[in-house]
Amino acid sequence: MTATARTEACLGQIAARDAELGAFLHVATDAALARAAALDAQTTPPGPLHGLPIAVKDNIAVAGQPLTAGSRMLAGYLPPRDATVVARLLAAGAVLVGKTNLDEFGMGSSTERSGFGPTRNPLDPARVPGGSSGGSAAAVAADMAWAALGTDTGGSIRQPAAFCGLAGLKPTYGRVSRSGVVAYASSLDQVGPLARTVRDVARVYAVLAGADPLDATSADVPVTPVQWREDLAGLRIGVAREHLDAAEGLDPAIHARITAALAALQARGATIVPVTLPHTRHGIAAYYLVATAEASANLSRYDGLRYGQRTDRPPTLDALYTRSRGEALGDEVQRRILLGTFALSAGFQDAFYLKACRVRRKIAEDFQTAWHVCDLLLGPTSPVAPWLLGEKVTDPLAMYLMDAFTVGPSLAGLPALSVPVGVDAQRLPIGAQLIGRPFDEATLLAVGDVLQRAFATEAA
Ligand code: GLN
Repeated sequence: MTATARTEACLGQIAARDAELGAFLHVATDAALARAAALDAQTTPPGPLHGLPIAVKDNIAVAGQPLTAGSRMLAGYLPPRDATVVARLLAAGAVLVGKTNLDEFGMGSSTERSGFGPTRNPLDPARVPGGSSGGSAAAVAADMAWAALGTDTGGSIRQPAAFCGLAGLKPTYGRVSRSGVVAYASSLDQVGPLARTVRDVARVYAVLAGADPLDATSADVPVTPVQWREDLAGLRIGVAREHLDAAEGLDPAIHARITAALAALQARGATIVPVTLPHTRHGIAAYYLVATAEASANLSRYDGLRYGQRTDRPPTLDALYTRSRGEALGDEVQRRILLGTFALSAGFQDAFYLKACRVRRKIAEDFQTAWHVCDLLLGPTSPVAPWLLGEKVTDPLAMYLMDAFTVGPSLAGLPALSVPVGVDAQRLPIGAQLIGRPFDEATLLAVGDVLQRAFATEAA
C-alpha cells in the first residue's frame, strides 16, 4: 500500500468520525498528503516506519503545527522546532497526520479535562477513552492513525490504551528523549507509543528509544532488540496480591480476565510466582504529591508574558500574572498548582513532599525485592472499565484512584506495557499491565506479544 493511500484512508476516517470523537486538536491534512507523496516518490531505501500515518499527542512539538498541551494558555503557540521523538519518526519515514487531544498538560485520566472539549471512546462514544493520552488512543482505535505517540507520567499511555483496546508502552524513565515535550512532572514524564498490536508498538519504540544529547535525563543504555518468542519456558511472572486478589475496588470481570491471562501464559511455559508490593496502597498519595509539586514548578513558566494568553490591561504586574493564569488555566490545573505549592511550602515540605519522596523510595524497593524471584509482573492496567463521560469528572479523588496500578511503576521509573486481553460482558476492553525491570522493554514486548496472540486465537 502506498503512503498516499494509507494517509488518505486515515484522513478519511478523521473526516468521517472526528467531529463526534474529538480525538484531534489539529489535523495536518495538506502537510500529511505532501509528505506521503514525497515518500511515494522516494528512491532511497525506505525507513522502518515508511509511509505509516502517526498521530502525535499535543504536548509534543511538531514544527509548523500548533501546540496547546490541551491548555487555553498555549492557544496560538507555534513551536519553532520538532521534538527529538518527532524528528526520529520523520527520519524513519512516518507521515504525521496531526496533534491529538489530552487532559490539560496531561493532568487527568479521562481526557475530559482538555481546554478544548473532551475526546470520546470510539468503541462506545458515551464513554471516556481514558487519559491523558485519550486523543492518541481514540485516533488509533478509530483507524485515524496507524499508531500514536503519547506521554505517560502516572498512566497516561497505558490506561487509554487499555480503555480503547490497544497496546501502549511507557518506557523506562530516561529511555526516550523528552526534548521538545511539554513538562508536567519531570521526574516521571516519559514518551511512548500506542498501536493496535504489541509488534507495532515495538516497531515505533525501536525508533524512539536511545540517548539524546538534547535531554540530559535521557539514559545512555544500549537498546536491545526484541527476541520474539513462541513459548515462555523458563520465564517467571510475578503476580502481586495488591494488584489482584487483595486489590481494592477491582472490577470482578477484570480480575477474571487477568486470571485468564496468567493461565494463558502458564500454558505457554511460564511459571507464576506470587509476590507482594506492600507499599502499593500509598502509591496514589505519594504520586499526587510528587507530581503536583513538580507541576507547580514547571507550570510557573506560564506567566502571561513568555507564552500564550495574556490578560487585557492589567493594573499591576501581579495582576498580569494572576489574571492571565486565572483566565487561561483550567480548574484541575489550578487545583494541582495549589496542592503542589502547598506541599512544597516552608513548614509543610517535610510533612508532605519529603514524606512522599520517602514513600516513593519504599515503592521502588518493593519492586527491587520482587525482581529477586520474577522476571516481570502482570496485573490489571485499570481497576475498572471505561466509564461514562461526566461520571467522575466532578470528583477529583475518585478520578485519582483510577491510577492505582499505574502510578507504582511510574514512581519507580520502570517500563510498563498495557496489552489488550479481551472484553467484559458489555464488550468494553480490558488491559493487562506488564511491568518490567529497568531498561528491559525487550522482555515486556516479547511476553506482551505472546499474551496478545494467545487472546487473539481465543477470540477467533
Ligand atoms: N492521571 C494521572 C494524572 O492525572 C496521570 C496522568 C499522566 O500520566 N499524564 O496525573
